[in-house]
Amino acid sequence: ELGSDVEVDAPIADNVDEDDLLGGLLIDSTEDVSIPERLVDQVIGQEHARDVIIKAAKQRRHVMMIGSPGTGKSMLAKAMTELLPKEELQDVLVYHNPDDGNKPKVRTVPAGKGEQIVDAHKEEARKRNQMRTFLMWIIIAVVLGYALIIAGQILLGILAAGIIYLAFRYASRGSDAMVPNLLVNNADTTTAPFRDATGGHAGALLGDVRHDPFQSGGMETPSHDRVEPGAIHKANKGVLFIDEINTLDIRSQQHLMTAIQEGEFSITGQSERSSGAMVQTEPVPTDFIMIAAGNLDAMENMHPALRSRIKGYGYEVYMEDTIEDDPEMRRKYVRFVAQEVANDGRLPPFEAAAIEEIILEARRRAGRKGHLTLKFRDLGGLVRVAGDIARAEEAEYTTRDHVLQAKERSRSIEQQLADEFIERRKDYELQVSDGYQVGRVNGLAVMGEDSGIMLPVMAEVTPTQSGGQVIATGQLKEMAEESVQNVSAIIKKFSDQNLSEKDVHIQFVQTGQSGVDGDSASITVATAVISALEDVGVSQNLAMTGSLSVRGDVLPVGGVTHKIEAAAKAGCKTVIIPKANEQDVMIEDEYEEMIEIIPVSHISEVLEVALEGEGDKDSLIARLKSITGSALQDGSVA
Ligand code: ADP
Repeated sequence: ELGSDVEVDAPIADNVDEDDLLGGLLIDSTEDVSIPERLVDQVIGQEHARDVIIKAAKQRRHVMMIGSPGTGKSMLAKAMTELLPKEELQDVLVYHNPDDGNKPKVRTVPAGKGEQIVDAHKEEARKRNQMRTFLMWIIIAVVLGYALIIAGQILLGILAAGIIYLAFRYASRGSDAMVPNLLVNNADTTTAPFRDATGGHAGALLGDVRHDPFQSGGMETPSHDRVEPGAIHKANKGVLFIDEINTLDIRSQQHLMTAIQEGEFSITGQSERSSGAMVQTEPVPTDFIMIAAGNLDAMENMHPALRSRIKGYGYEVYMEDTIEDDPEMRRKYVRFVAQEVANDGRLPPFEAAAIEEIILEARRRAGRKGHLTLKFRDLGGLVRVAGDIARAEEAEYTTRDHVLQAKERSRSIEQQLADEFIERRKDYELQVSDGYQVGRVNGLAVMGEDSGIMLPVMAEVTPTQSGGQVIATGQLKEMAEESVQNVSAIIKKFSDQNLSEKDVHIQFVQTGQSGVDGDSASITVATAVISALEDVGVSQNLAMTGSLSVRGDVLPVGGVTHKIEAAAKAGCKTVIIPKANEQDVMIEDEYEEMIEIIPVSHISEVLEVALEGEGDKDSLIARLKSITGSALQDGSVA
């Protein structure tokens, strides 16, 4: 059994209730859950990626991992080192080259030997130095004695002794130069090395030779002593992990390719004008397995030759963002909380109810019904914040209440902005009111990735002065134009009113905020325009989101959960969402009682809910309200 196949080691109920948040585990806290020793067995989900890693470790192949941050790419790369043979590890030594000081020699020895060799050289140098020092003092004593007693020349004697002293110092440097530089030391390494070279500079990746400020005159550090290994050398016989591979400069990507191809790479000074640039070592082994990671965009931007190199000689694997939510998986999430507590080392254990709250959050963050999020780094962040709160209170256990406080605290920047935005708008009395208003509709938008805001839209229709224009401001202009076009196509079928003979003004109330998406507001714009055109009020304690087709169908949008929560927070009683998004709704219990959710599939249903009163039977509204998508489709209207 390997990796996520490993069952959670804790007592479990005989009959597991399908809905039990802990998947039937009979535990009081994370203390009752034991954690697998190997990292590869701690990885949750990502079965495909994990299988690839296991296979690649056996075959020594490179791997490209594509997926969202915090889903376990670096964890899997690290886990791979546990699967690689430790016996093959090597130490690397750099020696002074007596023939050419700028071309240090490189020797490879089995792991652990390097230290011994260096120690032996040091011991020899020490003995030699001792001998020299002894000799030196004797000569100095003789010279001084002679000068003092026989010649009476004190100054000359001191001068001569000084020269002798310096000469010996200089000579003893020569013996230091014989001690090799232990470039890579694997004496204490228990598994094959793992090197994360993400975001480093060229020197950190490829090695470097330090600049020597004293380039001559006997004061210089010998060049072999200034050689520093890069991640590609330290990862020899192990794993080199590079995330956001596309951000690596092209030159480094090319060098990386050479290192992969040759299995060795000389070290030279990276800054061109330093004395280090004159030095170039013999090749140093770089026999590593490369794991390159990034999101899909990153992959498309990386050096094509490097990508095809890795692909051609290895595997490419996609990471999952979510996983199916069943009792077995929830048990793994219980273990995840225990793992994070153990990794941190300072957090009080989590009570069962606190773990349940984390699992609920994993559900909510999945953004998909029946799934749990695999974005574990963020989830781990929540665990740590909750644990820190408990620790600050000197609590023995982390409780559900601590987790709830942590959720409040670990809101993303966008969420905090959105909340502040709502706060601020209260001052402008932009909050919802009961009652109806003509031409004003509460739209909903998403800010950043995980927070919604309410975004009122106002429409006004005036006789045209210049041939029917849509007048909108800001970044949402394009979307506004498109929505008006779609709605006018619909209206044309039901009314004598012709929107192309009017100017339509659309105003997004207070969009000073950047990062607001517009694509999902088109039913909002359409409703506002129809309301303005027909002079019928729109319910103000209602908010809506949805995209509109030319035929009047309401199409799905993103971020419905966050939008619904935003509407509830702002005080709305009802929210309209596309029917196709119904399965994406995962709002927290506290909101569920605050707001009624109405899924719709056609604009007529939107109008039915949003507009005031019954109205005139012959009015456009009445007709629009009575139609359905299919009626529009074949153009036959009752
Ligand atoms: P990535 O490299 O994909 O950005 P990491 O591997 O660095 O993400 O994940 C960060 C942390 O989140 C890990 O150290 C681990 O604690 C946790 N984590 C991430 N993915 C998983 C997973 N699949 N199973 C268990 N823990 C995970």
